[in-house]
Parts: sequence; structure tokens; C-alpha cells
Amino acid sequence: MSANHKFLVPLADGLAVESVYYGSGTLCLSSQAGCAVGCPFCASGSRGLLRNLSVAELWAQVEAAHALGIKPRRLTLSGIGEPLHNFAAVREFLANCRSLNLPLSLTTTGSPTAHFRRMILLPHNGLMLSLHAGCAVTHRRLIPRGAELGDLLSVLEESLSGLSRRRRRKIGINYLLLAGINDSPAEFAELLPLFQRFPELTLHLLACNPVPESAFVSPDSAHVDELHVWLSAQGVNARRANAWRVQAEGGCGTLFAHRLGNSSDW
Ligand code: SF4
Repeated sequence: MSANHKFLVPLADGLAVESVYYGSGTLCLSSQAGCAVGCPFCASGSRGLLRNLSVAELWAQVEAAHALGIKPRRLTLSGIGEPLHNFAAVREFLANCRSLNLPLSLTTTGSPTAHFRRMILLPHNGLMLSLHAGCAVTHRRLIPRGAELGDLLSVLEESLSGLSRRRRRKIGINYLLLAGINDSPAEFAELLPLFQRFPELTLHLLACNPVPESAFVSPDSAHVDELHVWLSAQGVNARRANAWRVQAEGGCGTLFAHRLGNSSDW
């Protein structure tokens, strides 16, 4: 299958979560039904947390993909939920994937930081820390129930210092660009010391998937180009979202949890 494909996976208690297969070969899984972090730009967490998913329910999403004829080459826990809020199940799932030689990456806000510190050291295939800001005030606005920005940067610096360069390359920063909110060079300037100290880190510049009734929009591509050039000139390894993630069916914030039989409401 070469296009993105989003599908619903029913759970035993009448809930259902969405997963999305990217035509690039990655299957994006949800780690929770709903999410407690409350990022205001996110459709996935807009109704709060219902519950954690079990390890069996994480695998059920992979099996549902197989039933559709999809054979993912790698998995990512970047759909609905904060993986670190379901740490025990996610850690077991990661161990299962490793024993099957199935690469697994994660996207997290880094909260709680004790779990973030542990997860950095586990044998994942990529850990993307969603910061979306360089200033603490902007970070708190965009990730209201996440960890403090300063605490996250401290954990990251300490942990990266102890990793090999190869492992450091597995860590990235996700930055969802939102017009007029976090898209000024001044905001990025706060993050420059981190990238200067650890040049292996990648900064992923993400575009917002349009969500009905959302006030958040991404800047136009000319402005993203300007930012990209400016960041590169500062020595930051910045990348724009890949083509698969900007397709209508792709991207964190576009997946939902449902109650079967009444999918428009809980
Ligand atoms: S962006 Fe991620 S962490 Fe934030 S509310 Fe949505 S699912 Fe939760």
C-alpha cells in the first residue's frame, strides 16, 4: 500500500482508537484512548483522557493493519496519547518489538521527566520530544499539562551527554509551527545552545494539520523556508515535515478515540 491509510480499531469495552499507516512504511499507533496533556491545537486530546491501552491493545492495532493487507516495516507511538503516561505497557511493547526486530519510535512531551529519562536510555528506534517552543511561557501555553521546559532541557542535556553519537542521532525535537505564536527567530534562539552542544540533534519543523474550528494554523511555506534558512545558518540540523505526514490522512493531532455506536461523541 503506497498511500496513507487511517483506520479504526475497536476495543473490547466499546471504545475504538484510530491508527494511521504512512505510505512510507511506518504504522502510527495510539498509546491511550484520549490524552490528558491538553495541547490546545490537538484534536486527538481535545476530549481528555479515557484510559490507557494495554499491550494487547497496542498489538491489536498492528493486527488490524495486517488484516487490511498492510505490512508495516516500522512502528511509531505517535498517535493518540502521551506514551510516557502509559509507561509500563509501552516499555513492554518496546521489548516485544525489539525481540521481533520491528523498529519502534515514539513521540512524547517528556512528561513525567523521570520516565522521559528512562525512555531515552531504552532501545527505541527514535525518540521525538515535542517542545513546540523555546520560551517557557509559550511552551506552557502549547503543552499545558506537560513538564516544565527548563526541566525537560536539563534531563535532555544530562542524558545526551552519556549517549554515543549514534544513539544521540536517534533523538529529535518536534516543533509544530503555529503562525504568530511560536514562529519567530527569537523563540528558536532560546534553543540554540542545545543544538550547538549536541549537533547530532535534529529539529523537525512540523506543519499543523487543519482541524475544524481550530484557531491554530501553520505559517505559509515562504515563512517556513525563511526559518529553515535562518536555523541552518545557526548550525541547527532542521528538517521540514516529510511528504507523508502532510497528506490529509497523516499526522499527530488528526487521530481520534471513539465510542462505537456513537462516534461523534463519547
Ligand atoms: S499533541 Fe499529543 S500530548 Fe498533546 S494532547 Fe495531543 S495526543 Fe496528547
